[in-house]
Amino acid sequence: MAKALAGKVALVAGASSGIGEAAALALAEAGASVAISARRKERLEDLAKKIEAAGAKALILAGDVAEESFALGMVEQTVQAFGRLDILINSAGIIRPSEVETGSPADWRHVFDVNLHGTFYACHAAIPHMRKQGGGDIINVSSNAARRAVKVFNSYSATKNALNAFTDALRQEVGGYGIRVCVIMPGATATEVADSIPDANMRSAMQHHTHKDGAMMPADIAAAILFTLTLPSRANVSEILIRPTIDVTPT
Ligand code: NDP
Repeated sequence: MAKALAGKVALVAGASSGIGEAAALALAEAGASVAISARRKERLEDLAKKIEAAGAKALILAGDVAEESFALGMVEQTVQAFGRLDILINSAGIIRPSEVETGSPADWRHVFDVNLHGTFYACHAAIPHMRKQGGGDIINVSSNAARRAVKVFNSYSATKNALNAFTDALRQEVGGYGIRVCVIMPGATATEVADSIPDANMRSAMQHHTHKDGAMMPADIAAAILFTLTLPSRANVSEILIRPTIDVTPT
């Protein structure tokens, strides 16, 4: 029996670890050819081996999505290598302490450049290809923090809130071309997202949160992504809020 995504071409930004890595592998196992991007090339090389072991093709694109030329170029390189682009997953993201009084303006801009502008660049480059093909899927990885602002991670909450608005407006813009657009908002998921927080106390508190008992695993988010991609093309799951079962906070 043909695999669900046989013949499809995907690009996953933020694929060197966590949710992006799990999503790239899930897409490969479902039969897609997968371009994988992030800054850590050696991690992408390890993932490419797993993708190939699953019987799929991989393309490594090492670079920084905060740089416009790289983010636009990764889309064009995917199309050059595989001839089309059916699925774009924007999972690159960072979190930084950012209270307004004490936060650094440069850090503030950087979080926006990675979490929001990187996604804009990739979507901007992908749409003409998907439009020409008559359809496609764009999935932007936001956060539960889009709905519940976090004082100490203000820039993170702000980027994710903006990403939700961006994604819904994009859905309105491109649905008529057969392009589905989805925002997925995970709660605590055991990944490396906290590891790059410079402040040791903040890093440890956030690592504790993302790895708490009952936290979701990256494969859980990948499974939700795969669900949206395998529905009939007339059905666009526009938002997914996915939380650990034990997380009983009200919002
Ligand atoms: P990881 O840190 O494991 O993954 C983040 C990915 O983003 C890595 O592949 C990293 O690769 C990439 N990345 C970061 N900065 C850049 C950059 N400048 N250019 C290119 N790639 C970059 O964490 P997660 O898997 O958890 O994060 C994925 C997404 O999920 C993020 O958007 C995050 O905000 C979101 N999320 C995570 C939650 C969680 O609890 N884990 C909860 C809610 C949302 P590299 O460092 O190699 O560049």
